[in-house]
Amino acid sequence: MSASTPNPHDFLDLDDELSGEERDIRDAVRAFAAEQLTPYVADWYETGSLPAAELAKGFGGLGLLGMHLEGYGCAGTSAVAYGIACRELEAVDSGLRSFVSVQGSLAMFAIHRWGSEEQRREWLPRMAAGQALGCFGLTEPDAGSDPGSMRTHAVRDGADWVLNGTKMWITNGTVADVAVVWARTDEGIRGFVVPTDTPGFTANEVKHKLSLRASLTAELVLDGVRLPADAAFPEVRGLRGPLSCLNEARYGILFGVVGAARSCYQATLNREQFGKSLAGFQLTQRKLADLVVEVNRAGLVALRIGRLKDAGKLHHNR
Ligand SMILES: Cc1cc2nc3c(=O)[nH]c(=O)nc-3n(C[C@H](O)[C@H](O)[C@H](O)COP(=O)(O)OP(=O)(O)OC[C@H]3O[C@@H](n4cnc5c(N)ncnc54)[C@H](O)[C@@H]3O)c2cc1C
Repeated sequence: MSASTPNPHDFLDLDDELSGEERDIRDAVRAFAAEQLTPYVADWYETGSLPAAELAKGFGGLGLLGMHLEGYGCAGTSAVAYGIACRELEAVDSGLRSFVSVQGSLAMFAIHRWGSEEQRREWLPRMAAGQALGCFGLTEPDAGSDPGSMRTHAVRDGADWVLNGTKMWITNGTVADVAVVWARTDEGIRGFVVPTDTPGFTANEVKHKLSLRASLTAELVLDGVRLPADAAFPEVRGLRGPLSCLNEARYGILFGVVGAARSCYQATLNREQFGKSLAGFQLTQRKLADLVVEVNRAGLVALRIGRLKDAGKLHHNR
């Protein structure tokens, strides 16, 4: 696009601020989305399904899973690159961004940040490659915004842990190979790495969602799930464990919503009624002008937060 022709979807030319690597990642995700996601997403939304295993391999092949984490087969990109990938995925559908967020920012981040060396080595390389899927079990039927009131609990039985409880609204629960489950213990809330083939673990699909339909959602039931002592995250106690993971996921969502809003704007720009573009009607022009300002503003905020994160200066209470 020439300098004299502003990009109608990026009036501030924000992407000019991206590094070459970040732009390459943007283009790779856009190309993958155009070929592998956009043609099918309406069907996935309609049927409330997703080809999770194939998507995992596709995303893993692109290096998108846990992409901002270091080592263990993760790509180790900038946080901004991860954000841009989230933006381009959510421009297709929020469910696809959610798939990548849950794998990379919730399940993999939890193991990377809080897991033992053995837990990291066992799970992260396969999760990064998309050969193993993870889910993150924090929310419960009666503990949503207030996870501190969770009832799921883990008790010691000899050296083992035994988990009982129910988790609700767990993305990818039915297709996960491993679940990071947060449970109440005598020492406070602790995280556990639970292989989903452990006896007593079941995942029941939540059907008929009104929204986020191109995404798999489950109830997890833990009925006397017996785990070895080393299944627990070794050090972290209390809500700071799960809340640190939610902050990581929120970071990706910050960029994702920019993609979703941009898609809404694009769809309206291309809509014709009464023989001409809707964007040709003055009242609509005003709304579109407001919309593109908001999209650009959100993009600027996301980029700034991303740069702060990459510089190690981002604090959730700043
Ligand atoms: C599609 C989907 C996927 C999800 N995936 C996961 C997952 O993978 N893992 C996981 O652990 N969880 C997951 N969740 C759960 C999600 O994190 C919870 O839905 C969320 O924490 C809100 O909890 P709740 O639904 O119980 O709502 P509630 O906590 O009951 O809240 C209901 C309403 O009350 C408002 N509210 C609550 N408390 C206050 C307050 N103090 N002041 C003012 N307003 C308040 C809320 O903003 C909300 O509008 C998912 C949810 C959905 C819908």
